[in-house]
Amino acid sequence: MDVYYDYIIAGAGCAGRSLGVHLLPLLEQRNQRLLIIDSSFEHLVNKTWCFWEKETGIFDHLVHCRWDHVNVIHQGQKLTMDIRPYRYKMIRSMDFYDYTSFLFDASPQVHYFTGHVTSLTSDGQLATVIADGKPFYTTCLFNSIPGTIMQQPKKFNYLLQHFKGWTISTTEALFDPLQATLMDFSVAQEDGTAFIYLLPTSETTALVEYTEFSTQRLSDSEYERRLIAYITGRLGISEFAILEEESGAIPMTDHPFSAGNKNIINIGTTGGATKASSGYTFSFIQSQSLKIAAALRDDKLPTDTLQPGRFGFYDAILLDVLSSNKTIGADIFFRLFKCSPPERVLRFLDNKSSLLDEGRIFLRLPKTVFTKSLINKIRRSFIH
Ligand SMILES: Cc1cc2nc3c(=O)[nH]c(=O)nc-3n(C[C@H](O)[C@H](O)[C@H](O)COP(=O)(O)OP(=O)(O)OC[C@H]3O[C@@H](n4cnc5c(N)ncnc54)[C@H](O)[C@@H]3O)c2cc1C
Repeated sequence: MDVYYDYIIAGAGCAGRSLGVHLLPLLEQRNQRLLIIDSSFEHLVNKTWCFWEKETGIFDHLVHCRWDHVNVIHQGQKLTMDIRPYRYKMIRSMDFYDYTSFLFDASPQVHYFTGHVTSLTSDGQLATVIADGKPFYTTCLFNSIPGTIMQQPKKFNYLLQHFKGWTISTTEALFDPLQATLMDFSVAQEDGTAFIYLLPTSETTALVEYTEFSTQRLSDSEYERRLIAYITGRLGISEFAILEEESGAIPMTDHPFSAGNKNIINIGTTGGATKASSGYTFSFIQSQSLKIAAALRDDKLPTDTLQPGRFGFYDAILLDVLSSNKTIGADIFFRLFKCSPPERVLRFLDNKSSLLDEGRIFLRLPKTVFTKSLINKIRRSFIH
């Protein structure tokens, strides 16, 4: 096997594959070679990736379900919002893996190596990846392999968005497939912001997911107990079959992510593509991939592809509010959607709002807790 490639992507998950697809036209045009390395190319973990967009994205044909209306439920009040021109979309990771593998297999420019990456280094000219003891070289290395961060809890907040969900089916038509429930806060809030995420994919099937923003995952049996309580108690469904399940924990932190080192460019969650206050990542991965492909087309090294700027600061404040007041999250998220048009809120959550949008949103949020967290954030920024 060759050891030098024009580009190497370490980690063939959502970010590695998204970037690979965005690079295909360039590879073909310039007859360049890309090596993708992962410890396994099998689709082992089932994930449903949801996001909102106005446009028709390059993975639109993979969208399994889409909704124009979304709900947020709190203290007996249900907000049903028409989010058009946005649409809330779901892509199943298995479809995404199949499609991207199909494209890569069809391209003579794309090569694979299955191996465990143990080292990524660069001397500024050449970047080296060691996988299963073998070295591979490139001048442009993209890394999505999760690293470890040395936590600084006095300076930053660290929460997990942890969840477990079941795709269930019922014999009777019990769901409205035209409405997705983003957050139903009618579950206990004492350990942190907690909600049920309910995505009906037909009148008889839905993904029902228990989600919590806190520091520790629950045991499997505890997630299941909470899911059953919601399905039987709140939804009143006594008979259902579990078709699929998914679980995970997404880091929510204002700890800065490293953009990389010299010609090693971090991408995906490792490169800071996860929005700290919401855990949404898929859309940010797509913007990052677009920016990288555009920079390479212009013969530039794509550095700092995700610059959250003032949005990173807002995320840090909200994260501080959620970390210091376990029970307040439900109220804040509900108010966020209740007091502003959904289009403005979604634009804001996408880091694409204007200062005027943001001013209008902030005016309607509880001032005391946010001011406390703002002061806290400023105070913590002086800690070394
Ligand atoms: C169950 C689940 C549901 C989610 N749902 C949503 C959602 O609805 N919307 C949203 O926006 N975000 C969602 N996310 C968050 C985010 O979109 C995903 O985590 C996404 O997969 C992140 O992409 P990534 O490429 O950064 O990481 P990954 O997809 O995890 O890819 C990392 C890759 O690196 C490989 N790897 C790791 N270590 C090594 C090593 N040492 N050597 C070689 N290879 C290695 C892994 O095998 C993997 O293929 C979800 C996350 C989970 C876990």
